[in-house]
Amino acid sequence: MSKILIRGAKVLGGAPQDVLIDGETIAGTGAGLSAEGAEVVEAGGKVLLPGLVDLHTHLREPGREDSETVLTGTRAAASGGYTAVFAMANTFPVADTAGVVEQVWRLGQEHGYCDVQPIGAVTVGLEGRKLAELGAMHESAAGVTVFSDDGKCVDDAVIMRRALEYVKAFGGVVAQHAQEPRLTEGAQMNEGVVSAELGLGGWPAVAEESVIARDVLLAEHVGSRVHICHLSTAGSVEIVRWAKSRGIQVTAEVTPHHLLLTDELVRTYDPVYKVNPPLRTERDVMALREALADGTIDIVATDHAPHPHEDKDCEWAAAAMGMVGLETALSVVQETMVDTGLLDWAGVADRMSVKPAQIGQATRHGRPVSAGEPANLTLVDTEYRGLVDPAGFASRSRNTPYQGRELPGRVTHTWLRGKATLVDGKLT
Ligand SMILES: [Zn+2]
Repeated sequence: MSKILIRGAKVLGGAPQDVLIDGETIAGTGAGLSAEGAEVVEAGGKVLLPGLVDLHTHLREPGREDSETVLTGTRAAASGGYTAVFAMANTFPVADTAGVVEQVWRLGQEHGYCDVQPIGAVTVGLEGRKLAELGAMHESAAGVTVFSDDGKCVDDAVIMRRALEYVKAFGGVVAQHAQEPRLTEGAQMNEGVVSAELGLGGWPAVAEESVIARDVLLAEHVGSRVHICHLSTAGSVEIVRWAKSRGIQVTAEVTPHHLLLTDELVRTYDPVYKVNPPLRTERDVMALREALADGTIDIVATDHAPHPHEDKDCEWAAAAMGMVGLETALSVVQETMVDTGLLDWAGVADRMSVKPAQIGQATRHGRPVSAGEPANLTLVDTEYRGLVDPAGFASRSRNTPYQGRELPGRVTHTWLRGKATLVDGKLT
């Protein structure tokens, strides 16, 4: 059956209406649409959003299939309401050639739970010394437009300048993991009161902020686009706000965990809270929420970073950095942004679908929920409240900081080009 009638859905949180999908396309929206020849999904007042788009996902394949694969990662994405993810380049081998990005792109096409757009490395082997084949990756079947050494910072100013100049030629963007390496040697957590008390190596805010300040100035000098990954400090927000007021082409993302969690949690010494950039202070969290609400921060990106049990189940200093995020992102955003009155559902659609699709040039995603548009959609039961149980995750990894925590909202359905990938909370 190629027709699906979604009955009584609050599109972007508005008044309930019907949405008819025909094949891969939205055929119509409105009240009392005919269900003739269509499978009916009773939305019952759930919120319908354009399929979410994640600009920052670690799918780990090739090379770390013990953490995640393109299949398990895209299944996790579909469970979380995503219809497209951008796969970070820090795989083994690194996605720094046309061959590797095409491999990831093909795996995404084969597995089909969501669209996979590979991100290319900025430098060969993420080593920060020599520019990778940016043009060849852009011209490959994968059509790469976003480049990042994420996990590592492009700390050499000349390399960063050249990368910005190079991507400008085809309208690409460099996504920077802003971390001054010398200022963060041996860093284990945010530098502040808690790190001093615990005696753990501190990660100062200025290590992030100084790189962002340099990069927005470089972007202005070159006239190119820079995207800042996972902003985590109030000072970073101020720099991006200043840069935007000058007309600099900068966009920025925040992760769900930086909108909710603080460095106080490190007192538990539970490595599930160890992440890069580190959890910061309550003041930073509040500044990040405000900046996401007022548009200074453009998007939410998960930085979904799966790790196998053995890499997290060890003492703090030895544990890997990162958290899984695809399956809880929307719930954390509801908790921190919607239920607090900072964003409405149209705002969530903008920050989690429309804008990330625009930054990454995923032109078939982040579209309006209206006739003629691709049927990439997600249906959310916003009234639901439940405890996070990682045993039910589709991801191969379980390193979530929310285990046992009550969070609002549950994605019940996801459609990718009119084909259901998630039905009643179960993957198809
Ligand atoms: Zn990063």
